[in-house]
Amino acid sequence: MTATLVQWLNPNGIGFIFDPAITYYFGTAGSAVAAVFVFCLGACLGSFANACAMRLVRDEDFVATASRCRGCDTRLAWHENLPVIGFLKQRGRCRRCGMKLSPRYIIVEILGGLALLSYAASLPLGIAAGFGVALVLTGIACLTDLESLTLHPAILSLLGVTGICCAVAADAGLFTWHLTSAQALAGTLVSALLPMAINAAYRLFRGRNGFGEGDYWLLAAFGAWLGPVMGPALFIAASWLGAIVGVGMMLAGRASAMTKLPFGLFAGSAFILWPNLFTRVF
Ligand SMILES: [Zn+2]
Repeated sequence: MTATLVQWLNPNGIGFIFDPAITYYFGTAGSAVAAVFVFCLGACLGSFANACAMRLVRDEDFVATASRCRGCDTRLAWHENLPVIGFLKQRGRCRRCGMKLSPRYIIVEILGGLALLSYAASLPLGIAAGFGVALVLTGIACLTDLESLTLHPAILSLLGVTGICCAVAADAGLFTWHLTSAQALAGTLVSALLPMAINAAYRLFRGRNGFGEGDYWLLAAFGAWLGPVMGPALFIAASWLGAIVGVGMMLAGRASAMTKLPFGLFAGSAFILWPNLFTRVF
């Protein structure tokens, strides 16, 4: 039973939480402790991404200021800020004014924990850590796009630059990465040009843009992480995802063909799942 689960989580046998360095002394218990730690770290990353996105959308100073209740403006105690646990302990309400907290907090925190855990289970430490950084930045981009249909240039630039930095550091022999810097640069370029070309064709026939300008930058940034083949493949996957959701919403009477959908959310979700998909499929 445990062996089947490990096989499913770590199909290529390279996941670092199952590495002999961790399991040698403590066996599966060592992996379990590592898994809990990674999940908690991922939940913290989710919580951080959520706070950053909310502050970016509202034009507030971010990172530096302490978290406050959005109802009564009281500063939150450290234990109220604990990801997942804080929300459950307070039963999803502010302790002082009783304002209902958005389930978005706990959902993003749990998803962050699960995503990071899936990387740690199926990828070596260096690649899992790299995609952990991408996870935070992508999470911020997805959440701002979901809430206000905006993608912030600073976040997208940071995402692209960190992706290229990983490849450059690997070229210099600092750690193991899955792309060379030439592949990362080619990925950036191809991933931006393909949607631009498709958008130009769309504008020719329909007389309006199919994508926002932020979408190109987001896809270019993902290309730096995925390379010249997987970058465009991600774009195609995200377009399908968007089309399926769009048609579903139209059938449910919640959207028309003119409704703007947050493409960044679809591309970001596909990107977050990608490290798992490509270790399984390719
Ligand atoms: Zn309150």
